[in-house]
Amino acid sequence: MTDTFKAILVSRGEDKKQSVAVTELTDADLMDGDVTVAVEWTTVNYKDGLAITGKAPVIRRFPLVPGVDFAGTVISSSNPDWEKGDKVILNGWGVGETHFGAYAGRARVNGDWLVPLPDNMTTRQAMAIGTAGYTAMLSVMALERHGITPERGPVVVTGAAGGVGSVSVALLSRLGHHVIASTGRPTESAYLADLGAAEIIGRAELSGPAKPLGKERWAGGIDAVGSHTLANVLSMTAYGGAVAACGLAQGMDLPSSVAPFILRGVSLLGIDSVMAPRELRIEAWRRLADELDRRKLSELTTAIGFDGIIAAATDIVDGKIRGRVVVEM
Ligand code: NDP
Repeated sequence: MTDTFKAILVSRGEDKKQSVAVTELTDADLMDGDVTVAVEWTTVNYKDGLAITGKAPVIRRFPLVPGVDFAGTVISSSNPDWEKGDKVILNGWGVGETHFGAYAGRARVNGDWLVPLPDNMTTRQAMAIGTAGYTAMLSVMALERHGITPERGPVVVTGAAGGVGSVSVALLSRLGHHVIASTGRPTESAYLADLGAAEIIGRAELSGPAKPLGKERWAGGIDAVGSHTLANVLSMTAYGGAVAACGLAQGMDLPSSVAPFILRGVSLLGIDSVMAPRELRIEAWRRLADELDRRKLSELTTAIGFDGIIAAATDIVDGKIRGRVVVEM
C-alpha cells in the first residue's frame, strides 16, 4: 500500500481566487528533487501568512504546498551529500513559493538546498528559530561585517515582538549591545526586557513620515518593518552607522531621502534569506547553535500542531503572534 501523508494545498480557481485545503498526498504527488525528507517540525513565518491568506503573491505556482522552512530526517537520497537518517534544515530557495513546501508530512527537494542540523540542536529548536531567526542572524552578521560593535553605541530593532525582532533582540543583547526595542505592543515590554532589550520605545515614534535627518540615536539596527519606520531608523542613525533591512511589515515602500547616506555616511544593508549562499547559511546556523540562549528561545516560542497552521497564518499577518510559532507535524 502507498503511504499517504497530510498536507496543506493552496489552489487557485479560474477567478484567480486562492483556496486552502487540508488533503492527503503520496510521494508520487511531490515535485522533483534528489532528497526526500520526513518533515518533523516546521513553523509559521510572516511570509507563510502572506502565502496562505493570499495577501501578497508569494505563491507563484498552483496548486502548491506552502511553508518556507522545515527540519526533519532524510528518508531517501540520491544526492552524494546526504543519506538516510541525516538530520537537515531547509530555509527558502523558493520552497513554499514555487516548489512544494513544508506543510506536508514529506518534502522532496534539491539536496543542495539543505544544511545539516547542528549537533547540539533539535529539529524543534531549529524551527523555533526558523527562517525568521536565521534572518535575524544574517542581519547581525551583516552589522558585524560593517563594524557595528557594542562600543559604537545602541542598536535599534523594529517589529521587536515579532519573530525576526525577538531573535534579533536576544542575539544582539547576548553580543553585548545596548538594544532599543521598538514595538507597537507595550504589553510585551516585560517579554522584550527578558529577551535583553535595554530600552523599549513605541512603534508610533518611528511609523510616521521621516525627516531627512533626525537626532542621532543609534549606531545601527535591524529593521523588519520597512516603509516610514525604516526611513526614520535611517534618519536617526549616527555617523558611519548601518541598518540591516530585512522586512516589510509596515510596507514595501521606503519614503526616505539620500541625506543619511550622503551627509552621515550611513549604510543600508540588504538581507535576503531565500537565496543566501550555502556557506553563509551554514555559518549562520553554527552561530545560532552557539550563541542563541536556549532559555530565551523557549520563552519566545509557542508550539502548535498541523491543525493550527491556517489560523496562525491569519494571526501573523494581523500582527497577533508574539515571537515564534513552531509546528509539530
Ligand atoms: P512577525 O509578524 O512575527 O513580526 C513582524 C512584526 O512587525 C510584528 O510582530 C510587529 O511587531 C511589527 N509590525 C506588524 N505590522 C506593523 C505595522 N503596520 N507597522 C509597524 N510595525 C508592524 O513576522 P516575522 O518576524 O516572521 O517577519 C518580519 C518581516 O521580515 C516580514 O516582513 C517578513 O516578510 C520579513 N522577512 C524577510 C526575510 C528575508 O529574507 N529578508 C526572511 C524572514 C522574514 P511589534 O508588535 O513589536 O510592533
